Amino acid sequence: MTENASTTPMNLDDTERVRLAVYHGFARTGRAPGVAELAALTVLAPDQVRQELRALHASHDVVLDPQDHDRVVMAHPFAAVPLGFSLMGAHTLWWGGCAWDSFALPHLLRDEPDVLVATRCPACDTPHACVVGREEPPKGDQVAHFLTPMSRAWDDVVRTCGNQRLFCSTDCVDTWLRQTGQERGYRD
Ligand SMILES: [Zn+2]
Ligand SMILES: [Zn+2]
Repeated sequence: MTENASTTPMNLDDTERVRLAVYHGFARTGRAPGVAELAALTVLAPDQVRQELRALHASHDVVLDPQDHDRVVMAHPFAAVPLGFSLMGAHTLWWGGCAWDSFALPHLLRDEPDVLVATRCPACDTPHACVVGREEPPKGDQVAHFLTPMSRAWDDVVRTCGNQRLFCSTDCVDTWLRQTGQERGYRD
């Protein structure tokens, strides 16, 4: 077996190279790279990229569109679909994922130490925006509500993230649960 001691990306296995390329694409452009782009970035054949994407979907490293397996919809904390949050950096705009993912993003973005996170209260539509950085949690008395218990999070992870939202207050959480006929999840 020949093995190179240095750890350049070329030494990583193909699955890991595709995973990193998905993350780099999201970080750089705010959207999910497609198969052709991933093939160019990893120097793998498009069919090999497709195979690695399916493996990453199976291991919960990415989420593929159920209708179109060539399309990445999430690579936590990045999302390619609207889930109630937007994030604006100095150069790039991202879909924010959920209340959890949105606040995680500045930790992954080397060139964006802080971002503007914007959302609306699902109960009363009040806009909420804050600048989120790496040093400390943003100030504010909003309430994060997690509808789906973590043990069930991967049953339908897009729905799980879509229901991890920020509310004005516990009253707004209760109003929304009443409006939508759902049981209370977790709050923080
Ligand atoms: Zn999430
Ligand atoms: Zn509200």
